[in-house]
Amino acid sequence: MSERENIKNYAPDALRARLQKDGLPGFRAAQITRWLYARGVEDWDAMSDLGLDLRRELARRFETRALETGEVQRATDGVIKTQLRARDGAVLESVAIPERGRTTLCLSTQVGCPLACSFCATGALGFTRNLSSAEIIDQMCRMRELLPAGQRITNVVFMGMGEPLLNLPGLLPALDTLLHPQAFGLAPRRITVSTAGVARRIPELLEQAPVNLAVSLHAANDALRDELVPLNRRFPLAQLFATLRALPQLSRRHPVFFEYTLMAGVNDSVEDARALARLLAGLPSKLNVIPMNEHEDAPYRAPTPQVMDRFLAELSRAGVVCTLRRPRGADIEAACGQLALRPSPSPPPPSPAGARQGQEPGTTRR
Ligand code: SAH
Repeated sequence: MSERENIKNYAPDALRARLQKDGLPGFRAAQITRWLYARGVEDWDAMSDLGLDLRRELARRFETRALETGEVQRATDGVIKTQLRARDGAVLESVAIPERGRTTLCLSTQVGCPLACSFCATGALGFTRNLSSAEIIDQMCRMRELLPAGQRITNVVFMGMGEPLLNLPGLLPALDTLLHPQAFGLAPRRITVSTAGVARRIPELLEQAPVNLAVSLHAANDALRDELVPLNRRFPLAQLFATLRALPQLSRRHPVFFEYTLMAGVNDSVEDARALARLLAGLPSKLNVIPMNEHEDAPYRAPTPQVMDRFLAELSRAGVVCTLRRPRGADIEAACGQLALRPSPSPPPPSPAGARQGQEPGTTRR
């Protein structure tokens, strides 16, 4: 069969125009949207409130799936990391993080990542390509199938593989679909887009979608940040912070979030904390401190609990709103910066309590 277009590349409002372009009834877009996203149905034949002829036409022109589920790993703390395979064989990873009262999905926007941050396992993979909007949004559909019945996805963070702001053409329609009431209907504040600091694209993102912005900071001076986040050489701290300070969308109620991965002997001193506090002064912000998640591609280590406490105490004293992010899914390398397409350690060690579940085979369909 000839290459069909993927219908999930079109955000709900764009779908209407796309259908009309082919002489199809655009007003059916709302029904199609509800089937695809609200109900999770991907079989054209099952969309029973569309006429038979229309269903045939749609099936001839559009495919509805972009990703197939590959290896599923379940951590002892309930985190699920899944490898998803695109049509061209490219593989990416998504993570579901259940917490009390909510489930957060951590989505990827690229296969690999071009930024090569020195402490990040995804960076060590190199860059393959951008994900399409359909591939970005299909992570929601595939991951949802793996959750226990009744567990809904309540939050989405773009903190998986890749740099979201280097793929705005893929990201923006996917954000529309997440926000659209007939699709996933998530409130804007339940979505967070994280960037390593592509300053030039930040205003555009927030003009297009009123989501939360997170910036991966990791250093309060250019010399160190150049080393950890090489993108800093293109967008140094002065430029990044001038951009952030000029954003009209930020307020005390809607702060910018910062991620700061704490690495022993690298960026964890009291002086580092003070420099960080000076950098953030007056900017509505919240800082998430993440202990370095150790992996084989980088030499960095997490500081001791005492050093982390000292760092956070110094920040609090200086008036910075900050929290320590507990690593999740670390036993299956699903934590921040550990998405590197590694197979699960096999076979999993026998666990007398049966706490650890093994791999799950293949595709799960509803
Ligand atoms: N490229 C975007 C999206 C990725 S988010 C960005 O950089 O923001 C992934 C987050 O995990 C980033 O804050 C990243 O800096 C952080 N991270 C990467 N490797 C890590 C590691 N080994 N330990 C802890 N955090 C890490």
